[in-house]
Amino acid sequence: MFINERMKPHELLFYEALAARTALTKNESKNLSKILKGYEGELLYDEIFDSIGHDNIIIYRDVCLNIDNSITQYDSLIVSDKGIISNEIKNFTGNCSVSNGNWTLNNFPITKDAFSQLNRSVGKLMDMRNISQSDFTVSGKIIFPNDTFVFNSDDQTNWNKIILRSGLRDYFRQFNHPGVISGNKAQYISRIISNCIVDNPYFTLQADKTRLKYGLYCGQCGSFNLSKQRFHLTCNKCGRNECNETHILRALNDYKFLFYNQTMTRNSFLEFIDNDIPFYSVSRFLAKHCFQHKRGNMSSYTFKYFDFDDATKKSDSYKRYKDYLG
Ligand SMILES: [Zn+2]
Repeated sequence: MFINERMKPHELLFYEALAARTALTKNESKNLSKILKGYEGELLYDEIFDSIGHDNIIIYRDVCLNIDNSITQYDSLIVSDKGIISNEIKNFTGNCSVSNGNWTLNNFPITKDAFSQLNRSVGKLMDMRNISQSDFTVSGKIIFPNDTFVFNSDDQTNWNKIILRSGLRDYFRQFNHPGVISGNKAQYISRIISNCIVDNPYFTLQADKTRLKYGLYCGQCGSFNLSKQRFHLTCNKCGRNECNETHILRALNDYKFLFYNQTMTRNSFLEFIDNDIPFYSVSRFLAKHCFQHKRGNMSSYTFKYFDFDDATKKSDSYKRYKDYLG
């Protein structure tokens, strides 16, 4: 079973919010496509795993573990009574060759050698096991979920370290087998992993305020040309109506990832949305969807949810049916 949701990576949410509010540079567009492609590969992996079934095992998705004061990110950790298997997911497309340990993808050299990365991250899991004085197996595979990916290697031993799309279903089937169980031992291993989970420390991107267009934009076509009604805004370009609450949640999402860990006050948020929604409504929605931190006369707010999608799923009193096509 999947133990946690796979959320969009912070970088993806940053670039999406940035792209909505400014023209991306060539480099930023490239980064956005790269991160989006990686994330799509992870979703594809989850989808295929779902189709085979994974009730017998515990799966952690996209977690950062702090092991012996060094932090490593894992795309997928499969836990059973036997131990942990790390799956690194690479959504590569095209032709990949490994010759004398050098990787090329579509004839371009890859600087980060995927096998060294895998060895390092598996090594860290072994450290975790040894520190906790436990006894279980640790191994890893690189998963290439894209069916357009072709792999060539001069070293036959490399084939043991990878799973291609053509073999992915069979690979997952081995876990959906009565001989594989997650009993007490798996629960024990799972507790060790959970104790090491930390927030992603590698996300340090911050938006340059002077580049950003402030205000609210249509969730369907991205236009900032909206007409204010009492409880909703109507897009003058595509006609979509979205209630004030939807716009506030989307803006809170953008604020969070564009100015990560920066203090947000009611005034700074009102400035960010260019006062497109009245002060009293904004106050009400901030109280509902944010944690409030009081320091003297000053109050700051942090978004209660991970991102916009998470907010629309979790917020119990929030109803998307209020948004409709005009
Ligand atoms: Zn629109």
